[in-house]
Amino acid sequence: VNAPLAAGLEPCVHCGFCLQSCPTYLVTGDEADSPRGRIVLLRELAAGRLDWSEGGVTTHLDRCLGCRACEPVCPSGVSYAPALERARHALSTRRAVPLLVRLVHAVMAERRLGRLLFPLARLLRRGARWLAGDSRLGLALGMLAASRPARVNAPSLGEAAPRASLATRSHTAPVALFRGCIMDGLFGHVHGAAERVLRVNGFSLVEADDQGCCGALHAHAGQHEEAVALARRNVMALGSLGSDTAIAVDAAGCSAMLKEYGRLLSGDPLEASARALAARVRDVTELLADATPTPGAPLALRVAYDPPCHLLHAQGVDTEPEVLLRTVAGIAPLRHHEAEVCCGSAGSYSLSQPGLSRTVLARKVAAIMEAKPDVVASGNPGCAMQIGAGLLAAGATIPVVHPVEILDWSYRSAGAYAG
Ligand code: SF4
Ligand code: SF4
Repeated sequence: VNAPLAAGLEPCVHCGFCLQSCPTYLVTGDEADSPRGRIVLLRELAAGRLDWSEGGVTTHLDRCLGCRACEPVCPSGVSYAPALERARHALSTRRAVPLLVRLVHAVMAERRLGRLLFPLARLLRRGARWLAGDSRLGLALGMLAASRPARVNAPSLGEAAPRASLATRSHTAPVALFRGCIMDGLFGHVHGAAERVLRVNGFSLVEADDQGCCGALHAHAGQHEEAVALARRNVMALGSLGSDTAIAVDAAGCSAMLKEYGRLLSGDPLEASARALAARVRDVTELLADATPTPGAPLALRVAYDPPCHLLHAQGVDTEPEVLLRTVAGIAPLRHHEAEVCCGSAGSYSLSQPGLSRTVLARKVAAIMEAKPDVVASGNPGCAMQIGAGLLAAGATIPVVHPVEILDWSYRSAGAYAG
């Protein structure tokens, strides 16, 4: 955060290759809502030729999803995300982060608050789907409803799944599952699936006490100090594990953040430990794809794979989740034409920019409806909730699940967990 505002943006040659990858430019058509436009704004701010109060500067920076789709397509290698984080932090010193955003972030960061509120949210989500809709409140309830464990049409699984015993590999490679905040509070079923699937594939699970929220939402919203405090806690908790222990993460936003702890804690006494930890972090789909997953029972399911931005663009993890899905005979994952465009969830963006978030989401929901899958696979809780809410609002009963859940169903059908 101490680097100059425009650091990393120097290579931009204004070629515009990034424009068509930018979800906000695609929906507003405004150059100032494109990566190139925002880079100009940041450079002008850094040079003192523009003030924060001028020309809708804050509006255009606020509208950025932080999806990072502009980075891999840039031929000059512009490093956009750190500059955006610094700009958001500079903004947070000029005006307060919205109260609702701060409240949500406090629940993520404060484990005592989470322990109080997540059980309540789990209770509320049971009936939330009946109140889901297209209004702001309807979408919020839809997000809650979409966090429930999916009920997939059992006959379609049963018919295609011969009972067979599954050879479970011997456990050798130690791995700790990163538990996070919302994943632990609302997506415990995904953690359960990830653990079972890791065990079947020869990983030996170890626990790391005292870990918590990764701080990604705080960092993206400009709450740098809060993000640093959360990162320090995780570095101490996870760093105490053996150096051969991989850290498996089943939420793409968290794996992206954990891999960047070295940058986040740059200059901190824990920087070296943060870099060592980051080197051991793997998205669970990477870890499993590298291990060549054991096949389970076939499933007759039409699966649409929707890559989370923080997996595809921020980490460059592209084919691994599909490797997992293809392990299941009967599944040939499809990518609809909006699959690689952000869903509009983007941390707390659906709270701070509800209108634009909904417009961005509408494109994806329409593409999914056109593709007619039985289930959408996406490995990030924000995407699962946002896409799930959009589908519920559109009247579709298509669940959004993590790719490991599908492998878990396949193993369950094969009798891997019997007895
Ligand atoms: S960020 Fe990269 S792709 Fe976009 S205008 Fe600049 S150089 Fe071109
Ligand atoms: S991070 Fe996403 S929304 Fe922001 S400028 Fe880049 S592509 Fe556009």
